[in-house]
Amino acid sequence: MRLFLAIQLQDYFADTLLDLQDRWRAIGVRGHFTPAEKLHLTLAFIGEYGNPDDVMDALSQISFRPFTMRLDGAGNFHDTYWAGIEPSKDLLQCAQRIRHVLAENNIPYDRRKFAPHITLVRKGECLTGMTRMLENLPSAAMEVREFSLLRSDRGKNGMIYTPIGSILAD
Ligand code: NAP
Repeated sequence: MRLFLAIQLQDYFADTLLDLQDRWRAIGVRGHFTPAEKLHLTLAFIGEYGNPDDVMDALSQISFRPFTMRLDGAGNFHDTYWAGIEPSKDLLQCAQRIRHVLAENNIPYDRRKFAPHITLVRKGECLTGMTRMLENLPSAAMEVREFSLLRSDRGKNGMIYTPIGSILAD
């Protein structure tokens, strides 16, 4: 199964991103807009791995204090458009601890540098140019009290993310 670790968003934080998607639609951005229930911040991507119980056991070694996560700009990578997340010390430390525990337990994960972002549009096209998309970006913050192990499966209408378990802050 395809696994990843992510922070799931509180409703008001996701609503801010839905508003941004609406604004982007209004200025002519087209593509597959991520629906509210699928918005998330990936902390580590494991990929194909058959034993989620091992992953949850390994993650149970992690303790962390609640911390604040903030929106920080937006951008694109080819045809994927995203909202940036401030790379705060607490967030980077959380991702780093997760990755360290995965490595210690021989659980594979993508080791590329953590670039915190929330994907808002896939296979997107921006006819008006990126500059307009970056105008009046919203600000929002939420307290992170948990992160989750999710399973990703291909569904009829895109990917389906199913939470397997969560690690709660102290
Ligand atoms: P996903 O590929 O399962 O990704 C889940 C989350 O992990 C997303 O936040 C994604 O980041 C992140 N991620 C994926 N690969 C990563 C990597 N190598 N390193 C770091 N983070 C990674 O689900 P998805 O993002 O919704 O789907 C994207 C595309 O993958 C779809 O077009 C789908 O067709 C294709 N795909 C799916 C499967 C499957 O079995 N689920 C298999 C092969 C390909 P981003 O938000 O930045 O993408």
